[in-house]
This record gives sequence, structure tokens and C-alpha cells, in this order.
Amino acid sequence: MDEPPALPLGFTFSQSSLQDYTDCPRRFQLRYLDQLKWPAVETEPALENERSRQEGQLFHRLLQQHRIGLPAEKLAPLASTPDLHRWWENYIGYDFKLSGFAQHTELTLSAPVGTHRLLAKYDLVAIGPGEKVLIFDWKTYHRRPRDEWMAARMQTRVYRALLVQAGAVLNSGQLFDPKRIEMIYWYADFPNEPVHFPYNATLSRHDWEALTGLINEITNHRHFPMTADEKKCAFCPYRSYCNRGIKAGEGEELEAELAGLDINFEQVAEIEF
Ligand code: SF4
Repeated sequence: MDEPPALPLGFTFSQSSLQDYTDCPRRFQLRYLDQLKWPAVETEPALENERSRQEGQLFHRLLQQHRIGLPAEKLAPLASTPDLHRWWENYIGYDFKLSGFAQHTELTLSAPVGTHRLLAKYDLVAIGPGEKVLIFDWKTYHRRPRDEWMAARMQTRVYRALLVQAGAVLNSGQLFDPKRIEMIYWYADFPNEPVHFPYNATLSRHDWEALTGLINEITNHRHFPMTADEKKCAFCPYRSYCNRGIKAGEGEELEAELAGLDINFEQVAEIEF
């Protein structure tokens, strides 16, 4: 087999690309080195999946506009599908307790790692003066994942670690003390069951070492094997390149798996912001 092309100079890593590599090095190669576009639908029915993507995207946009000050009554009519309406009502009815917090929506932060950069796009970072620094991420999953599963996600590790490394711009030039940081996944369909992941200096150091180690490993890699865990293939768009089946996983089947399996929800259920 031909060697994969080298990582392009200036390649920027994200939680998605690191999650891809962690799930399956071959998927990372196909997506980011060979730059193959979506050759197969990830889940069936495809149209239903596309609708979910668009609704997730619109929901994020509504929340962003609301958080920067647009009145709720002007935005509410835009939540015009049953899912959007329900998520919006859940959002409006929930007290996020952010009075007095400086709020940064759709914030992008990045930091150098070797010859590359690591980048994250945050739905909301809310900073209480001298107090908590809260990272919010809105999730529109129809099933609530297990907390341990979310804790292990690259997103949870990247978002908190990167806020320590690159967040000085939000804190008068001072790095945030990691123990002020907390990441919160708020589930639009389970508004009263958010999950909170606090942070501390030990975790921060450990995460950053692990992330830089992983990025260095990928940068120097010339071999990207297929995952041995074929469950990950059912929802992967590159199945046909790997002889791991042609038919997509069923959306309902995916939903049934959400409570337990270690599959990449970001790929199948939601547009990244
Ligand atoms: S189909 Fe399976 S082996 Fe191939 S890239 Fe996707 S997850 Fe990896």
C-alpha cells in the first residue's frame, strides 16, 4: 500500500480530528491526509439525518443570538419545528445562573503544539469575576449519553486544557487557574440533567501532556491502521474504502446505541460550531 501523504504544513488539530485518530487511525488518514469527502452516508435514513444536522445547527445559532442579546420573543418563532420548539422551550425555561458573568459565544481559541496548532470552537465561555470559568456546550442528542462516555471524549479534554493554555486573552493576560474551569454539557432534550466536569492543575497538566503526545505521534506517523473495533465502522462514511460494509447504520439503531457504545456522535448527530 502507498504511504499516506504527510500532514500538511500548518495543519490545525481539533477535538474532531483527534477523536477520529483515537477511534480509528485509518479514518484520520482518509479524512485529513487523503482528504476524501463523505463517500457514504453515515446513518440511514439519510434525509432524516440531514434534517437533524440542520436543526442542530439552527438551534446553536438561536442560542448564540439570544446570548448576545437578541430578545427571546423575536427568536422564538424561528424555532419552528417540533424538535426546535421543544429545545427552545427547554432552554428558555432553564436557569443557567449566569447573572454577572462575562459571556463569550462561539469563541475560537488555539495554541501552538510543535509545528501545528490545536483549535477549539466553544459554544459559550462564561467568566464569573474571580470565580468560575464555565465552558458550555449545547448537545441535541435524542438520548442522553453516559457521563463516563462524555468524560472520556476528546472534546472534554481538549476544551478544558486549551482554555488553560490559550485563555489568557480572556483574563487580562493571565492564565486561568485550572481549578476555576468547569465544562458543562447541557442537553436540550434533558435540560435538568446537564453534566459538569470540573478541572484542576493535575488534570490540566496530564491532559496537555497527553494531547501534545498524541499530536506528536500523529505528526510522525506513517502508518494508519484500521480499527480492530468493527462497531465503529457501522457509522463511518469510509466503510466502502475498508471493506467494512456498504450499508449505513440505521438512525434508530444509532439512537439505541447511544447509551453505551463508544462511537463518534459528533460525526453522526451534530454539526460542529
Ligand atoms: S470503516 Fe472502520 S476501519 Fe474504515 S475508516 Fe471507518 S472506522 Fe476506520
